[in-house]
Amino acid sequence: MRTNVRPTKPTKRQRTRCGLCGKRRLTTEEHVVPKNLYAPTRRRGKTHWIVIAACSECNNGTTDDDVHLRFVLALAGQSNQAVKELWETKITGSLRRRDGLRRAQDVYAIMRPVSGSTDHMIYPANDPRVLKSVRKIVRGLARHHGLPWPVHDAQVIADVLRGPELLDVVSDGFSYGHVQSDIFEYHYLPVVGEEGLHSVWFIHFFERTTFRAVVFQTVEDCQRAWATALDAAPIRQHS
Ligand SMILES: [Zn+2]
Repeated sequence: MRTNVRPTKPTKRQRTRCGLCGKRRLTTEEHVVPKNLYAPTRRRGKTHWIVIAACSECNNGTTDDDVHLRFVLALAGQSNQAVKELWETKITGSLRRRDGLRRAQDVYAIMRPVSGSTDHMIYPANDPRVLKSVRKIVRGLARHHGLPWPVHDAQVIADVLRGPELLDVVSDGFSYGHVQSDIFEYHYLPVVGEEGLHSVWFIHFFERTTFRAVVFQTVEDCQRAWATALDAAPIRQHS
């Protein structure tokens, strides 16, 4: 069932509907933006966490993906101060742990050499685990903002925004939010009644890596949009 009920602030542990799958279960607080993206000094004071109630099935089992997401985002581009502090306090240490080599290999798999240079670039869009984490953040934000829910993972298409600057694609109608603007910012636009669309999102990490996500009203609407995009692809190649 889809409703427009505003989310209540979750307590530590309660029996209620999960903000992600919508099932009535024992839930705990889920941090929509993974806490590990914040270096220790950035976790104090002014940070306003975005939390929703989520069941253990939706909430657990993503810790490893969250660490991977942090590693990929920390490597993808010019470091700002927030990333530098994260490297110094958290990431270097995590690579020394037992699974550090595996983590490095996971990231190496999505690096590509830059032609005419010894540099390598990292491509978060080539990493299914990163995109899944991004979709989960968008689903959580949709719940946080009281949009129709639950939003299933298969209702969301996410990709890296390449080319245009964020401010060129975000128009007046978009709402803005952030959890410390140099770490995580987002713009979103609820869309009602157009081609099965639910909402459009741009989420921006560390002032440089932007993902766009489109949420559809149903899984079928999402699949139809994929099929249309695939049909159109050969035409675009010839134009
Ligand atoms: Zn759930």
